[in-house]
Amino acid sequence: MGRELLKPLGFIDGRWVPADDGGTIAVDDPATGETIARVPWMGAGETHRAIDAAHRAGPDWAARTAGERARILRRWHDLMLEEQEALATLLTREQGKPLREARAEILHATAFLEWFAEEARRAHGEVIPAHAADRRLLVLRQPIGVVGAITPWNFPSAMVTRKVAPALAAGCTIILKPAEQTPLSALALATLGEEAGVPPGVFNIVTGDAPAIGSVLTTSPVVRKLSFTGSTATGRLLMRQSAETVKKLSLELGGNAPFLVFDDADLDAAVEGAMLSKFRNAGQTCVCTNRFHVQSGIHDAFVDRFAARIRGLRLGHGLDPASDIGPLIDASAVAKVEAHVADALAKGAELVVGGRRGAFDGGYEPTLLTQVRADMLVNHEETFGPLAAVIRFETEDQAIALANDSIFGLAGYLYTSDLARAWRVAEAIETGMVGINTGLISTEVAPFGGIKQSGLGREGGRQGLEEYQELKYLCIAA
Ligand code: ADP
Repeated sequence: MGRELLKPLGFIDGRWVPADDGGTIAVDDPATGETIARVPWMGAGETHRAIDAAHRAGPDWAARTAGERARILRRWHDLMLEEQEALATLLTREQGKPLREARAEILHATAFLEWFAEEARRAHGEVIPAHAADRRLLVLRQPIGVVGAITPWNFPSAMVTRKVAPALAAGCTIILKPAEQTPLSALALATLGEEAGVPPGVFNIVTGDAPAIGSVLTTSPVVRKLSFTGSTATGRLLMRQSAETVKKLSLELGGNAPFLVFDDADLDAAVEGAMLSKFRNAGQTCVCTNRFHVQSGIHDAFVDRFAARIRGLRLGHGLDPASDIGPLIDASAVAKVEAHVADALAKGAELVVGGRRGAFDGGYEPTLLTQVRADMLVNHEETFGPLAAVIRFETEDQAIALANDSIFGLAGYLYTSDLARAWRVAEAIETGMVGINTGLISTEVAPFGGIKQSGLGREGGRQGLEEYQELKYLCIAA
């Protein structure tokens, strides 16, 4: 304990460094606007150096046994648990979420280190029954090499370990660019990683100019893989930039999660799931429900109960223990919620709860709209805020068609007590993940990711490690 976890510097080749030109950018508390720290505004030069360091560190790291790498990840996990409270407080200060959610995020982040420490030792290859008597066929799993990672601000800690832990477990080295709004959590993790014994150059952090850093990471032939979590627009850009060097990509992009409530659903469970899947992190998670499709027989009862629960939510600073909902990350996030509400009301939606900015900076009141229709913005675009939009449907086929009417396909949720329907609808929904009678699906042990324009690849689970490995087939004449 007593470690200094606020490290306002970049981390390259095992050294804590400022930007080459001394430039910095402020990290602000989104609830008050107060500056917490300033971190280096780095660009192309620092990124090239970080790539060189990762490249040099690669062979030694890859040559260690999986067990040796796992022990370091395990120590890192233990140090994070020791510092859970300090890490959670730092996370709330830079990101805004209520402290109890920040504590839960730190546990979730820590779990990726433990899971991939365990998985590292089970990265088996294969022996294939050969096509000829004098041949022996094997498949090896080898680390991809140098990885670039770009993470968002909504989970400043968990999105880092979800990429760094599998990369390191697989024997890769990595350069991370955290979101400019929330770099402090990532830098605190690097401090603990260093103490756990991660060697210089294996994990590097470059903070600052996103387009400049991103362009070097995507165009460098040394970087063999890019793992990105963020908006679909930025994901498309990074995919284009990566084409020249034919990089492996993991992209976890936007969603537009549907939440289907059928007449035969357990109403209490559906409302509980709705609260969790909509209002966690003030609606700023990529698996947050964006639209509630509710069957007409249960519609009014669901809306009444949901509205009562929403009225009970308290908006406030994340460090105030009474707060259920913190601020949104910045002014443009608030403006987007306002635009979605205004568009829906102009087109005939009904406002049941909220619909206003909160009394403090950056806050927006938890809001419920009914009579929402397919032509409203909120049905097509991810709001990423505390706005619940309810759309009525009549039949199961109609519900599936509405759910699938999206270019996105990350998460979906459905509530029904009919087992056959649960299977039918879960199989028909075009998303990478489906919560059945639950609004919470994220865990380190299962593959997280989307289909359609929600992205490529999976994070977590056994598959999360495979994303950082290449297959090599050996054909032996014997
Ligand atoms: P959001 O709009 O939710 O902030 P972004 O996709 O812009 O989502 O941000 C996710 C991450 O992508 C952040 O770390 C951000 O700095 C980074 N980013 C944004 N634009 C670029 C870019 N042109 N090149 C590389 N990274 C970028």
